[in-house]
Amino acid sequence: MSHPWFADRIAVLATMHRKEQVIGPILETALGLTLEVPGGLDTDQFGTFTRDRHRPNNQKITARLKAERALELTGGDLAIASEGSFGPHPSLPFLACNLELVVLIDRANNLEIYGQELSTETNYSQASISSLAEALAFAQKVGFPEHGLVVMPTASTSAAAEIVKGIVSEAELVKVVNAGLERSQRPQTSPSLHLETDMRALCNPTRMKVIAQAAANLVAAIQKPCPSCGAPGFEPTERQPGLPCALCRAPTLLTRALWSQCQRCGFRQEMLFPDGRETADPAQCPYCNP
Ligand SMILES: [Zn+2]
Ligand SMILES: [Zn+2]
Repeated sequence: MSHPWFADRIAVLATMHRKEQVIGPILETALGLTLEVPGGLDTDQFGTFTRDRHRPNNQKITARLKAERALELTGGDLAIASEGSFGPHPSLPFLACNLELVVLIDRANNLEIYGQELSTETNYSQASISSLAEALAFAQKVGFPEHGLVVMPTASTSAAAEIVKGIVSEAELVKVVNAGLERSQRPQTSPSLHLETDMRALCNPTRMKVIAQAAANLVAAIQKPCPSCGAPGFEPTERQPGLPCALCRAPTLLTRALWSQCQRCGFRQEMLFPDGRETADPAQCPYCNP
């Protein structure tokens, strides 16, 4: 398969964590483009999960900045970048989740199209440990050694030299943990170290799968043409609340409609009742259930 707007074009992918392994086949097969990874791009400048480099902006803007940097570096007109985040699930706060964004920026046609995936499939986890046995128990719980680990003195360590990332063998974990525990030993206090899962894509196959799904969702978004001019990426970008209460018809905060707008011709279209229901439960109504 290919796509008339992208076939036979070269897209640069801003990554140094092997994301091309999952994003490449999906985009190349569906769109007919060729994906290239430019050398000399330091994506860590846009923030690291280990917090030694802070993310300059929110997730969406950071994804865009990475893609723009790849375009600058290569002089190309088509770029892909991805950015992930981890934290409590927005509606189930006791569950950890992973939100992945993949963006396509097409300078030749002035398009910026996003695919995203929110998943509770993640090993995102941290622990403070005071013995090698505790470290090994944590490692087993989070899918080590297929998934990498990070060892650092404390959760707030920011000195890059003190953060050991990408630990993927038990021999190395034992060595790093033993040395770290010894260094942390002070009179009157017990030794301790901070361990966390390495969330970089190359060390985390579970995250790679979520990135693959976000890339597939990007393809789905690209394959939706504007009904007026045919430009790709005709996706809802605006949510309109106001779903009427089933009892009193008053508008509630629930979604009444989604609006899509074409980035090229500005054509707008409303999709009514995207959640498949035309009224809200009175329990959600500010009048019936104040
Ligand atoms: Zn259009
Ligand atoms: Zn009501």
